[in-house]
Amino acid sequence: MVKAIYPGSFDPITLGHLDIIRRIQPLFSELVVVVANSQRKQYLFSLEERVQLIQQNLGSLPNVRIDKCDGLIVDYAAAAGAQVIVRGLRAVSDFESEYAMSAMNRKLNSHVETMIVFTRPEYSFVASTMVKEVAHHGGDLSNLVPTNVISALAGRIQVKGR
Ligand code: ADP
Repeated sequence: MVKAIYPGSFDPITLGHLDIIRRIQPLFSELVVVVANSQRKQYLFSLEERVQLIQQNLGSLPNVRIDKCDGLIVDYAAAAGAQVIVRGLRAVSDFESEYAMSAMNRKLNSHVETMIVFTRPEYSFVASTMVKEVAHHGGDLSNLVPTNVISALAGRIQVKGR
């Protein structure tokens, strides 16, 4: 019975995130998608909106739930009784920050293990930041984010030059 958390900003959730959730969900008895809210970060979508955009895409995954966190992720994991923090890796450029974060988390709590899951190649370039940039320029988002996120972005972002 291994419980895991998958933390992130999810501002907004992308098809890359959803692919990771669907692939790891069968491996754990429970998976909590933890939406992080940092005072020092600026988000396009509010915490509630980010949670809702994820919720609408989880459908009938029985052992997956969503929660919020505004503190240290490793503290959240320990309090929730999760042994594993899952992070996704897209490219070598992700490696350094993920490695540093896992090392710091191990220092803070050596009972919580970080597991890295590689992205599928087709999502290796999909990042929430990039998605917002594409939306800003009116680009095609259909292979990058789920449809509810396309609608949410359309309502939030003024397309440049229109
Ligand atoms: P954070 O701000 O914590 O990096 P993100 O929402 O950007 O939050 O990402 C959450 C997690 O999902 C991170 O581990 C990130 O590397 C991973 N991730 C982001 N985009 C993808 C993708 N396209 N494929 C696989 N993993 C991804």
